[in-house]
Order: sequence, then structure tokens, then C-alpha cells
Amino acid sequence: MKLQEYRSKEILARHGVPVSPGEVASTPAETRAAAERIGGQVVVKAQVLVGGRGKAGGVKLAADPAAAERAAAEIIGLEIKGVTVRTVLVAPAAEIAHEYYLGIVLDRVSRAIIVIASAEGGVEIEETARTNPGAILRLPLHPLIGLQEHNVRRVAFFLGLSAELRRAFGPIMRGLAAAFLDSDADLAEINPLVVTTGGELLALDAKIVLDDSGLYRHPDLEAMRDANEEEPSEIAAREAGINFIKLDGTIGCMVNGAGLAMTTMDLVKLAGGEPANFLDIGGGAKADRVEAAFRIILDDPKVRSILVNIFGGITRGDEVARGIVEARATLQREVPMVVRIVGTNAAEAAHILEAANLITAASLDEAAARAVAAAQVQGPVT
Ligand code: GDP
Ligand code: MN
Repeated sequence: MKLQEYRSKEILARHGVPVSPGEVASTPAETRAAAERIGGQVVVKAQVLVGGRGKAGGVKLAADPAAAERAAAEIIGLEIKGVTVRTVLVAPAAEIAHEYYLGIVLDRVSRAIIVIASAEGGVEIEETARTNPGAILRLPLHPLIGLQEHNVRRVAFFLGLSAELRRAFGPIMRGLAAAFLDSDADLAEINPLVVTTGGELLALDAKIVLDDSGLYRHPDLEAMRDANEEEPSEIAAREAGINFIKLDGTIGCMVNGAGLAMTTMDLVKLAGGEPANFLDIGGGAKADRVEAAFRIILDDPKVRSILVNIFGGITRGDEVARGIVEARATLQREVPMVVRIVGTNAAEAAHILEAANLITAASLDEAAARAVAAAQVQGPVT
């Protein structure tokens, strides 16, 4: 789960990282009032969960409250990478002398938590990685001890900070690491971390991505979820206990088990189709969850056929088959469905499916091919 900039900054501030105090506003008038309270030059920033807001016109400096109001009028409603801006952050504008990048990330390649730092901040780190990889430090942390003082010094020297800035940098590096660990994050990044013309270090932008599997330990962070920026179908799935990720294809997939779901998607592709989603109904799914899964899949107007692939272990095949037949009667629209159920109670499942005239398949290859063919029969999606 991604946190908005102002939320991420709240968390960093709690850990002693200096951020400029800001206010969130959702109308130009509110922005003006916030700018009046703050006084002086302010920056108005779109709060959307995508990067590159600056380039897209989502970050504007404003000399006075009237200019802040105009900036907000331009930013609110703006679409940035497909997301409509609803709120802005208003904060005192900083005078920037230099921009750095500082991040901590759980790195799957090195199987460690690593610090990433660069003196070329302000631009997206992926871009620096492409154009000038030597300008990036990637420093793995000790798995048990975490961030150590020599790590902090190493990063500070790599960034070329003066002795004075190095002293101010320690609490920032430690605060970022503590925020990352305490919130069970996958990523905590400050970009840019700036030195102001007054010689102060300040986190001007922040981004924290939480590990969804650790969220149950953080009800306060869960409350920071921004439902505006989630697919409604992904919200419905979470509420039904279904693992679901929306994709762009036309073949809806309903599978039990994450590995099997990925295999199923691969085979759909191999058969010449494109999966519309990743969906894992989980172990021991009963009729109600199957019904919820169908509703979620069919909510996507692009779906032209559904491929159900169930390997019965704890999940009983006949339960799922019954769920499919019951659910079909309640669905908002009809699309061809290809069902493959093997494992526990597969024979009972087959009887139920055949009695209901559903297309069945013995092998997964065959099931994928039929689902793709069924989707194509109806012609391409416009
Ligand atoms: P992003 O583009 O989504 O990463 O948004 P950022 O918050 O990082 O802002 C993008 C850029 O806008 C920064 O790299 C800065 O160059 C500039 N910017 C942001 N806040 C301020 C500010 O307070 N003062 C000045 N002068 N520039 C700012
Ligand atoms: Mn940024």
C-alpha cells in the first residue's frame, strides 16, 4: 500500500526527519486559506500516488495566497498518469541549493534491506540508474543489526556532504531507517532531500510503500489508505478475502493458489490470449467467495470469457462447482465460462458442471485454449 506524500512526511517527522509543515486542501479556497496561515511563498503539490508530479504540472510555487489559489485551481482536477488530483499539499516553499536522493528499500536481488543514495536527486532514481549508474550508492544493511554508524558515515561521504551537513544528516538517515522498520515498509524514500540556501537539510518529498502483509500490525497506517486511488474491484476483493490484481486483458481468471494463478495466466498467454486479472480465491473457498469472485471479474467490461482453474486440496471441487452454478444464476451479464476442476471431489464436481451445461476441460492447456477461443468468438474489444 502506497502512502500519500503528506502521510509519508507525517511518519518521517515522527521519527525526527525535518520536513516543512504543510496543510492539505481540497479546494482552491482552502488552499488560499492555508497559504495565508503559512505566509510567504508556498508550494502547492498534487497528492496522487504516482511519481513525476513536478513534470506533469502537479507542483507549483506560489508567491502569495492569491497565486496559491490559482495554482490549486490548475492542479485539482488535473489528471496525472491516469489519476485525477483531488487534494493538494500546501507548504512553505524551500529555497533549494542542492537536491539529493535518499531511500531505503527491501531489495529482492541482494535479499537485504539496502540504502540507496545519490547526489543527483530530484529526478526519478530509475532514470539516474539508466543514465548514470555510477552516481548511485547501493549499501546493504546488516540483517540483524540494521543501520550502523559506519553506514551513516559512508552514505554522508558518498553524497559529498560538508562536516556541518554530515552532522545534520545522521538523524535523517537514522530516522528514515527507523520509519522504514517501524512501519513494515517495502520502501521509504526522500526525493529530493535538499540543502536549502540557508544551509539546512530538509525532506521536500517523501514516499512510503507499506508491505501489505504487515499491515495488520498497523491499524493507524491502515487508516491512511486512500480509497480514491484504488480500483473499486480491488477494494471489493480485499473485503471478500480474495487476492486480486486487475490487468488489461479479456480472459477473466479464477484460480485457487497464487502459483497456480500465475501458471494459469502464463498458459492463457501461451494460448494467444491476455488475462484480465490475477485472482486467487484462496484455500477452502466456499460458494459465497466464488460468487464474490465472479462479481469482481465481471465488473470489468473488458472480460469476454472466464477461465476457472481449481486444484482441490483443502478446497473441495464439488463446493466450488456448486458455487459456480449458484453464482451464474445471479451474475449481471453472461460470458462463456470454461471450468477445470481436479483434485478433491473432482468427479462430483464434473457431474454438477455437466448437469449445468458448463464447458469443462480436462487439461489446463485445453482449458486455456477454449477460454481464449470463446473470447475471440465475440470479436475484439473496442
Ligand atoms: P515529484 O515530481 O512527484 O517527485 O514531486 P517533488 O515533490 O519531488 O517535486 C518535484 C520538484 O519540484 C523537486 O525536485 C523540486 O525541484 C521542485 N520543488 C518541490 N518543492 C519545492 C520547493 O519548496 N521549492 C522549490 N524551489 N522547488 C520545489
Ligand atoms: Mn519527488
